[in-house]
Amino acid sequence: MIEVQNLQKHFGNVEALKGVSFNCKSGQVTGLLGPNGAGKTTTIRILSTILKPISGSAKVNGFDVVKDASKVRSSLGVVLENTGLYRRLTGDENVLYFADLAGVSRPEAYKRMEVLYKLLEIDYGKRQAGTYSKGMAQKLNLVRAVIHDPPVLILDEPTAGLDVPSTLAVRTFVKQQRDSGKTVLFSTHLMNEAELLCDYVYIINLGSIVAEGSPEELKQRTQSNSLEEAFMKVVKQ
Ligand code: ATP
Repeated sequence: MIEVQNLQKHFGNVEALKGVSFNCKSGQVTGLLGPNGAGKTTTIRILSTILKPISGSAKVNGFDVVKDASKVRSSLGVVLENTGLYRRLTGDENVLYFADLAGVSRPEAYKRMEVLYKLLEIDYGKRQAGTYSKGMAQKLNLVRAVIHDPPVLILDEPTAGLDVPSTLAVRTFVKQQRDSGKTVLFSTHLMNEAELLCDYVYIINLGSIVAEGSPEELKQRTQSNSLEEAFMKVVKQ
């Protein structure tokens, strides 16, 4: 579960979040959709305990992001744009390093790694991460993010810049995580992707949530043929 209540954040005189509230349920993919500068990354950084809000509160898996930051971090798997792997380590070494940090035993880490490598079609774990293509690195990043089997996943633009096979692998992974009961918060600019993957979406614009519902509900309410059309109508209001 993710529960966000009236989050506010300013950067100087820029009001990045003006009282954002939303919930993400377990066993669902929740989309956070918005145009450039809407406040998606700021929200995700607060949920990942990288930034503190000015006011409001957020809970991840029941833990407060300010008061219980370390419990939040161990409940979370996060893939942010530009999160990196250690380039000099192999893929396997990267994953095992994060597993060690999270206190996962070696036998358990190897077991999970094997399942995730199979799901994401990773056969390059013995190569140095510095030699990976963008798609290869992103798939490895997903394994790194969930090696401690966290109940909540936050994915910021996880398919940005990926080719079709890597994009499909990421989507399969997201569905598998959802079907195993995880809470998934997914941010994307790609409305067709949101329509395919998200059970529920929140549309954020200029630091406020301006619409919410299942993709189907949003299309019906705005009399649109696609989520993209609904999105454009909502953010232009
Ligand atoms: P994008 O889709 O372009 O990544 P976003 O929805 O993630 O956009 P944010 O990055 O959260 O948007 O930015 C929200 C607002 O806050 C923008 O006006 C942005 O310029 C501003 N902002 C974000 N981070 C900072 C910062 N560190 N310093 C100053 N302003 C910031």
